[in-house]
Amino acid sequence: MSDQTRAARLLHLRAETLQKGDPVALPLTLASMYHLPGDPAGVPGYGRMDNATVEALEHALALLEDAPCLAFPSGMAAISAALFATLKAGDRLLIPSDGYYTTRLLADRFLARLGVTVDTRPTASFAEGGLAGYAVVFLETPSNPGLDLCDLSAICAEIRAAGGVSIVDNTTMTPFGQRPLDLGADIVVASDTKAPNGHSDALMGHVATRDDNLLEELRAWRKLGGGIPGPFEAWLTHRGLETLELRFARMCDSAEALAPRLADHPRVARLRYPGLPGDPAHNLARRQMARPGLLIGLELDSAETAERFIDTCPLLQPATSFGGVHSSAERRARWGDAVAPGFVRLSVGIEPVEPLWAALKESLDAL
Ligand SMILES: *Cc1c(COP(=O)(O)O)cnc(C)c1O
Repeated sequence: MSDQTRAARLLHLRAETLQKGDPVALPLTLASMYHLPGDPAGVPGYGRMDNATVEALEHALALLEDAPCLAFPSGMAAISAALFATLKAGDRLLIPSDGYYTTRLLADRFLARLGVTVDTRPTASFAEGGLAGYAVVFLETPSNPGLDLCDLSAICAEIRAAGGVSIVDNTTMTPFGQRPLDLGADIVVASDTKAPNGHSDALMGHVATRDDNLLEELRAWRKLGGGIPGPFEAWLTHRGLETLELRFARMCDSAEALAPRLADHPRVARLRYPGLPGDPAHNLARRQMARPGLLIGLELDSAETAERFIDTCPLLQPATSFGGVHSSAERRARWGDAVAPGFVRLSVGIEPVEPLWAALKESLDAL
């Protein structure tokens, strides 16, 4: 099924099971208890395992991933589930040194003390040194925030051949930008707090896998660990998902139009965007990504210049996180990421591109 067909079908997914008189829009089911006399089999039993709104979200995500999905209350809850459900004492885990920093903190602080050896490598040279001996390999491409890439199909094939499990964090791309399961990954994790919800008003995450045994472990982890999404957040994310294809297409189109103009601006010292022909990852991006994404990394000459750019541009929301309808930006070194002090992660929103460019240019010109 093509991305376009998936996007079209998503909007009619609920209609496939509607009975006459049912609301067309997804109802919000707020329930911890269900009416449950006698034999509990076959009906919703308790809110930690069963919720119709959460299941509708998972059904929609499963269509987009072309794989069974489990929703989690945040991207980190999804990542925790994937790591804790696959690792045991004595195992070795390989994660990116330049990916989302909380994943590294989680591994260093909690997995290491349970007897997991945690190694890190930069995304751009991830396969160097071999992948044998790792029980689990965690990948993130393009990496957040540096936007380096690694070759998913080559790396996932090597991990599988060595008997390891591959987990790919696909948050920066969404299923409309990159399809890690089709490229050989065992598990996809994502923060739906970003573009999938897209309205900056809820946290959510999901895990997708086509492996029945892994799915069973992940489901058990969620049920026993208790990291279950709230129905209202699931409802909001389901609503966001219905416009993801439209928003993501606009964001990528705009980012593609803006990246070369920003790269040419005299105040921009360096720029990373996988869609830019001169980018070191461009060829790989063309091979494994359907779209070049909504994130642009640009470097200004100092922390002060970068802060001034972010704060003075009227169409930039200074904020952490990305993928919202409004363009936003932040200086990642403020969190300690290993990037230059003047490095700005720009998340391109759904504003019409010409007014957005005019605002960005005016703020850069005035620096
Ligand atoms: C934001 C993010 C996460 C964590 O998601 P939350 O929903 O904030 O828990 C994980 N991975 C990447 C790449 C992210 O950008």
